[in-house]
Amino acid sequence: MPDRTKPLPQPTPETARFWEGTRQHELWMQRCGDCAQFYFYPRPFCRFCGGGNVEWRQLAGTGTLYSFVINHLPAPGFEAEAPYVIALVDVTEGPRMMTNLINVPATPEAITVGMPVRVVYRVMSSEITLP
Ligand code: ZN
Repeated sequence: MPDRTKPLPQPTPETARFWEGTRQHELWMQRCGDCAQFYFYPRPFCRFCGGGNVEWRQLAGTGTLYSFVINHLPAPGFEAEAPYVIALVDVTEGPRMMTNLINVPATPEAITVGMPVRVVYRVMSSEITLP
């Protein structure tokens, strides 16, 4: 059997602050100082107005479920987790992020679009903690 492990994100200079936050069990995203919009994923310019006046802010860590799919056919490295829930969550401050729903059964009966969700953290390595 091949030795497969779950692939982990590789922090970059643009994403380092995000991963520093998750290690502290905090959710941080960028906010544009010109148009006041939060956005995700991290990048050096605002995705709404193109401005470079960007700051990092800590978020509440709450949101609502926008959409989801229950995956029964895992990608390599994810076999041990199937079935699992891939979710799009609208965080309270505005951005939509892809994530997994955990601490809930991976069944359609247990999950409802629009349900409130809250971030929890899974320590994967000394460098990476997943929200
Ligand atoms: Zn902007």
